[in-house]
This record gives sequence, C-alpha cells and structure tokens, in this order.
Amino acid sequence: MAKERTLAIIKPDAVARGLHGDILSRIHEAGFQIVAIESRRLTKEEAEGFYAVHRGKPFFGDLTSFMSSGKVVILALEADGAISRWRELMGATDPAKAAPNTLRKLYGTSIQNNCTHGSDAPETAAFELSYFFSGRQLI
Ligand code: ATP
Ligand code: MG
Repeated sequence: MAKERTLAIIKPDAVARGLHGDILSRIHEAGFQIVAIESRRLTKEEAEGFYAVHRGKPFFGDLTSFMSSGKVVILALEADGAISRWRELMGATDPAKAAPNTLRKLYGTSIQNNCTHGSDAPETAAFELSYFFSGRQLI
C-alpha cells in the first residue's frame, strides 16, 4: 500500500470531554505519523467552507454550528493507506452502527456528535489538508 496523507479532526464534543489525549494515543498505536497538528476553534464560516459538500442538506446548519462550538484538534496524518485506515479506526458515521472498539463506537454520542472526522478519498484529502495547513506545515 502506498504512503498517503489524510486530514483528521477531533471534533468539539470529544475535545470538550478531554478525550483528545486518548484519541491521540490510538492514532500513535495505529502507526500513523502526525505530520501537522493544531488545536483551535473554527469560525462558523470555516466550518461551512470545510463541509461545503453538505450545503443544502437538512443537518448543515446544526453541523456547522456544532463544529464551531468549541476547540477542535486538526491533524495531518500519514501512513500506508492512511485514508481508509483512519476511517476504519473511526468507525461508521452513526456511532450506533460503528464496529466495536472504533473511536465513534467508544466516544460518539449521536450521528452528529461522532467525535472525529476523516477525509473520504484522495481528492477530498488534498482539498482538506490544504484547507487547514500551508505547504510549509506539511513538509
Ligand atoms: P466526516 O465527514 O465528519 O468524517 P462522514 O464522512 O462519516 O463524517 P458525512 O456524510 O461526510 O459522514 O457527514 C459529515 C458529518 O455530518 C458527519 O460526521 C456527522 O457529524 C454529520 N452528519 C452526517 N449525517 C448526519 C445526519 N443525518 N444528521 C445529523 N448529522 C449528520
Ligand atoms: Mg465525510
């Protein structure tokens, strides 16, 4: 499998509960390299731009309010097959449907408050990495 990068976010629900330390441990144990990391609060506009593919869906307003409701941890992760491996570690979007021991199963509390984000394809990973990090930060 080729080395790949993906954009991960530890969402405000997880950071507010102090779960980011544990999630970072899981990322380390799973063999991901953390290429870049930043902790800060997104503006509503940044969250809207990030989730622009979901504009028009019924949950868009609530989702972008949630994503800008408190600090997040934004990560550029690198590993062989990083995009699919990170999505596997997160589990299904709906925590109720996520596999045992996945992050969303362990820590998610609703389909919206599902504790983590991960890019879903090479094209979205490229867009999302450049949305939050400069070329210099990704060296
Ligand atoms: P993410 O993009 O955050 O990694 P995902 O790719 O598993 O999650 P998407 O379909 O891209 O799922 O949805 C983006 C986010 O929008 C979800 O992670 C969740 O927080 C929220 N969301 C998705 N579907 C719903 C829904 N039906 N109701 C409320 N929120 C939703
Ligand atoms: Mg998605």
